[in-house]
Amino acid sequence: MSSARARSVNIVGAGLAGALLALLFARRGLRVSLYERRADPRQTQPEEGRSINLALAARGTRALERAGIMAAVRPLLIPMRGRMVHEPGGPPVLQPYGQRADEVIWSVGRAALNRVLIEAAVRHPDVAVHFGHTCVGVDVAAGRLQLRDAQAAVREVALAPTIATDGAGSVVRAALGRAGLLQSREDWLDHDYKELAIPAHGGRHVLEPEALHIWPRGGFMLIALPNLDGSFTATLFLPRQGAVSFAALAHPGAAREFFAREFPDVVPFMPELSAQFAAHPQGQLGTVHAVPWQVGGKVLLLGDAAHAIVPFHGQGMNAAFEDCTVLDGLLDEPRDWNGLFAQFEALRRANTEAIARMAVENYLEMRDAVRDAGFVRRKAIAMALERAFPGRFIPRYSMVMFHPEISYADALRRGEIQAGILGELDPGTGADFDPARAAALIEARLPALRAA
Ligand SMILES: Cc1cc2nc3c(=O)[nH]c(=O)nc-3n(C[C@H](O)[C@H](O)[C@H](O)COP(=O)(O)OP(=O)(O)OC[C@H]3O[C@@H](n4cnc5c(N)ncnc54)[C@H](O)[C@@H]3O)c2cc1C
Repeated sequence: MSSARARSVNIVGAGLAGALLALLFARRGLRVSLYERRADPRQTQPEEGRSINLALAARGTRALERAGIMAAVRPLLIPMRGRMVHEPGGPPVLQPYGQRADEVIWSVGRAALNRVLIEAAVRHPDVAVHFGHTCVGVDVAAGRLQLRDAQAAVREVALAPTIATDGAGSVVRAALGRAGLLQSREDWLDHDYKELAIPAHGGRHVLEPEALHIWPRGGFMLIALPNLDGSFTATLFLPRQGAVSFAALAHPGAAREFFAREFPDVVPFMPELSAQFAAHPQGQLGTVHAVPWQVGGKVLLLGDAAHAIVPFHGQGMNAAFEDCTVLDGLLDEPRDWNGLFAQFEALRRANTEAIARMAVENYLEMRDAVRDAGFVRRKAIAMALERAFPGRFIPRYSMVMFHPEISYADALRRGEIQAGILGELDPGTGADFDPARAAALIEARLPALRAA
């Protein structure tokens, strides 16, 4: 390690990325001061209003393994083998995510995962975690990071270097923006979300536990992910305004009527539906664009603070964890923080832009395309091509979720080529396609994968 590189680092935000990064840094011998506005989660209940469970995939598990924490995380995970699609009037149908036994994604509770990460960070002698410390400002010119403690006293610490992992609403990003050091923009969707519980019955799951359930309805959808206690957390994604919208469900009884009409099979499992619908917060969804992510080796934005995305590919946390893997890997090089932050941004920007785009596209796929016979047919052809051309033709969903050695940007690029090939091979009915034509198209258009 270069002697020019400071060995003490601030991290703002002990959420998923911040806590993992603290651990990775400490394992390299850096001294980490981790500032978190919440109280110590080991002594308090989880914050309300955040997504309760998340889909963890290969980019995330790779980072957790790197930090030596997978053994503690594994007991928190429930495998989800595919999408269980609930159409009105028919039985639910499982669309497997992949075709190998290990091609599953994992449902994990946010609070439990964050707690395991924080516990591991706290145990490390080189990590000092300061709960109840809210970052209120950044003065780059004076080199100061401003923090308000639980007694409302504001204190300042030396700024450089600081990694801001304070989430989508990052105070650090806003402060740098106000100082003219970066430009940022939030693109809000006109669809919001609301989480609702599907309780366990006799301690057991009332739906197939090893699946991500989807009730696709074209312009909107309900999904549900399993929890370890036998419950599911359902999330309704719906336009904010309009004929079918959250605004239209504002009067008492409207939500229950809506669910009875649109999702009748799940209503018997949601006895508290009306009360929960009235009480639970309605969350907004958006994509954060910020340029640049770093200021001269002093501050770096990482995770949602730099590039929050909509949740429809289940990749926000996974991308934030991949950020941690990449930044940690760069510490092998003898660069100063300035060079390191610049290199991090150069490596990550195209990838996070790619996943931001694929995440928006996936909303259409989940709420609509999964019901379409053409979609199901092309998915079957894609899987057959993956079997026939292993390591060359890999469905885009699989590249994103199961192949961390393929970058998001490459997944997007290859996915576009593959979509063209599938379009030409799709016979319109049945799943038969011309294998000789497939081989010729793949040979001509789809480059061999580069080694990672
Ligand atoms: C509905 C929904 C569903 C999702 N589902 C998935 C999924 O299935 N899979 C997936 O990979 N991703 C999913 N995500 C995205 C995922 O939640 C985020 O990408 C992930 O939490 C980003 O981690 P982070 O550490 O960057 O930010 P966060 O997890 O938001 O952590 C930020 C931390 O900073 C702290 N903080 C904030 N401000 C300050 C301050 N001023 N001073 C000090 N501390 C501060 C916060 O208290 C928090 O602890 C979903 C998101 C939503 C909204």
